[in-house]
Parts: sequence; C-alpha cells; structure tokens
Amino acid sequence: MLDTAHHIIRKVGKQLGLSEDEIAYLLKTDGEHVFEISLSNGSTHQAYRVQHNNQLGPYKGGVRFHPDVDLDEVRALATLMSMKTAAVGLPLGGGKGGVAIDGKNLSPKDREEVARKYVAHLHPHIGPDKDVPAPDVNTNATVIDWMVDEYEQQTGDTSHASFTGKSLDNGGSLGREAATGRGGVFALRELLKHLGREKEALTIAIQGMGNVGSFFGAIAEDEQPNWKLVAATDSSGGLRLDAGLSASDLNDFKAKQGRLKEYELPNATPISNEDLISADVDVLVLAALGDAVTEQNMRGVRAKIVVELANGPVNEAAYEYLSEKDVIVVPDILANAGGVIVSYLEWQQNKAGEQWTEDTVNQKMEDYMTKAVEAVYKESQAQGIALKEAAFAQAIKRILEARHVGPKE
Ligand code: NAD
Repeated sequence: MLDTAHHIIRKVGKQLGLSEDEIAYLLKTDGEHVFEISLSNGSTHQAYRVQHNNQLGPYKGGVRFHPDVDLDEVRALATLMSMKTAAVGLPLGGGKGGVAIDGKNLSPKDREEVARKYVAHLHPHIGPDKDVPAPDVNTNATVIDWMVDEYEQQTGDTSHASFTGKSLDNGGSLGREAATGRGGVFALRELLKHLGREKEALTIAIQGMGNVGSFFGAIAEDEQPNWKLVAATDSSGGLRLDAGLSASDLNDFKAKQGRLKEYELPNATPISNEDLISADVDVLVLAALGDAVTEQNMRGVRAKIVVELANGPVNEAAYEYLSEKDVIVVPDILANAGGVIVSYLEWQQNKAGEQWTEDTVNQKMEDYMTKAVEAVYKESQAQGIALKEAAFAQAIKRILEARHVGPKE
C-alpha cells in the first residue's frame, strides 16, 4: 500500500515537473509515534500514530484496531489522508493511527482500556490544533468518546474538538453517519454534469451494502431518479434485478436479518461478489474493501464508470488496465471524501461551540464536493490526464503552495 501511494505521488509529481526535493517532501512523514500498549489482561500490542503533513492544517485521520496494522500501512494511510484533505480543499493535513489488535472481538473492557491507553500515551502530540483523530476500522463513536474523556483528563481541554466521530451527545455532528455515501452520490452526480450525461438513465451495481454502500444506495434512490440500482452485494453475496432494486428495502432487510444473500425477491437472481464485479451495468460502485478489482478480475469489468467509495478498491495494475480501456475511475480521495468533510464540519462546530442542523451540514458538504469535483475535472481536461492523477495534482499543488507561503518556510 505504501508503494502504491508513493508511486502515484511520484508519477503525478513528475507530470507536474516537481523537483526531487519537492517529491521527497511529499513522501516523507512529519512524525511517527510507535509505542506499546499493555493491557491488564497481560497482552501487549504495538500502537502507531503517523503524522504525514500539516502544511494545510492540523493532521486528520482515523485510528483503527486491527491485527494487520503495521507502520507501513499507517504511513500509507496517513499519506493518502493528506492527499484527500488537500484534494477537496480542506484546511487540514493528514495522519492515521492504529493498534495491532483484533478489534472485532475485543471485550468492551479491553476496548476501553486500549482506547484510553492510546490517548494517555499520545496526548502531548494530538489536540484540536495539532492532530485530530477519528474512528476507522473497528473503532466507533463509543471508542472516540472514551478517547475524548481520556484526553480531557490528561490535558484539561474541554472543547471536544480534539477528536471527530463522537456521539451526538458528546459533540458529534448530524449527518456524519451518511456522509461518505452521500458525498459519493454528490461526486458521481457532479461528474455526470461535467460529462454532459446528467440526464442519461444509468444502471448501477453496488459492492458492499455496509455503512457507505447502503447510504449511497438509499440517497441515490431518493435524489437521482435516472439511476437504477440493478445489483447489490455484501460479503455473503447478493442479488440482481434488471427492473430495479430498492436500496432502502435492501437496507431494511439487512437491518433485520443480516445477509443480503438470503433476501428473496420475485424475479431477482442471486449474484456472487465475483459476478457483481463483471455485471453488465453503467456504473460499478465499490464500497466494500481495498483490492476488490485486481489482475485477477479486471478483464471482466464491463462498467464504463467505476466509483471508488472504499479506500483503494482498484489496485494499481487494474487501474492502469481500466484506464487504457477508457473506463472512468472516480478516485477514492475524491469519491469518499464526504466523511472527512463532515469530520471537518464537526471540528468547526466544536470550536465555535455550535451544533448545526443536518441540512446545514449536508449543504456545506455538498458545496465542498461540488467545488472539488469541478476543480479535479477541469484539471483533468486541462492536462489531458485521468481524474485520479488530476485529484492528486490538485492536492499536491495545494500542499506545495502552502509550503512556499506557509509558516514552515
Ligand atoms: P462496513 O463494514 O460498514 O461495510 C462494508 C461492507 O462490505 C459490509 O456490508 C460487508 O458485508 C461488505 N463486504 C465485505 N467484503 C465484501 C466482498 N468481498 N464483496 C461484497 N461486499 C463485501 O464499512 P464501511 O464503513 O461501509 O466502509 C466501507 C469502505 O469504505 C471501507 O473501505 C472504508 O475504509 C471506506 N471508507 C469508509 C468511510 C466511512 O465514513 N465509513 C470513509 C471513507 C472510506
């Protein structure tokens, strides 16, 4: 993952004519905190916080609890966070954190202990104007609320602006839960406008009806009458119906019974996850995991637009292949930025001591996404490059511009 992140930055850096010094500056991390967390059950776990770049503002990025977490993964994710915040025009930098622990199967007591010890160690290096962590894989608002409480105990800071992704009662923002899916709808809608295709009827397949995929589906169903969801899966598999599926019905079923594979609908046919990747649709929305499209299955992709709602769902080789076939890939750092945009709005609300309505939050997020897609699209047209390279180019230019005028130089 780190190689892939560095590869695209180098590639775009060369396209932009950057010096070796500038490219090295974009690849390096500002700070790396590596430490151990020992739990009262006797186990010890490696913990990380990588602060990649804060030229545009405080470091921002999630903390995951997962056994595969290692330093290179956290470095890669921190680097991509800097690119994402810069690509969509937020005054934030990029960071990421993690603890190498099986976060899915932790007892509540152990989970709280990990959360508190993570912050007890890191508190001098994070904070509202330094580094603002958020939830990520296997962490949620409850974990963040413990972290906020620990941070308050360690530092006396009561602003609650030290973390985002908090529960609503603890300073969280309305609109956060749906933000990444909603932002994906805005991103695709805006792109279609620039392509002059906004009135076209489009069929859509969604891989991964989890948080992000299910909100994408339900919001598209409400707001985009020309889009028809014809196939959807979760990790169990799913179904296809050319007459159209209702994402909200699928979400209701999942909320009650769990697995999409078991959803029975007259005339619908079961579909495996592999078949979903090669479904005959106009738009393939990837909202499950990284590396969903790789050398193994890239030749089967029939959609002409692929939306990367997950982080890194199209690997490097598949991306090169799809680009050669003129498939438009809406890159993750743009398509899934709705979440970090609303995190930024949460942080702003905390700093101002305000709570905005959901409509206000959604409207502000829509403005960021609309402007970001326009800027990335224009860059891609002006330079004759794909959206992904254009999104990185926007990000890199903003970071370097800030470096040249900012306080660090
Ligand atoms: P989630 O766990 O709620 O949902 C993931 C879904 O993918 C689940 O429904 C799961 O069953 C399904 N899935 C797993 N393997 C699958 C497979 N092989 N084929 C089809 N479906 C499969 O997670 P989420 O919060 O929705 O996040 C999804 C992706 O979006 C992740 O890559 C995450 O890093 C990324 N992302 C999430 C956010 C956010 O705000 N939640 C923000 C940015 C990026």
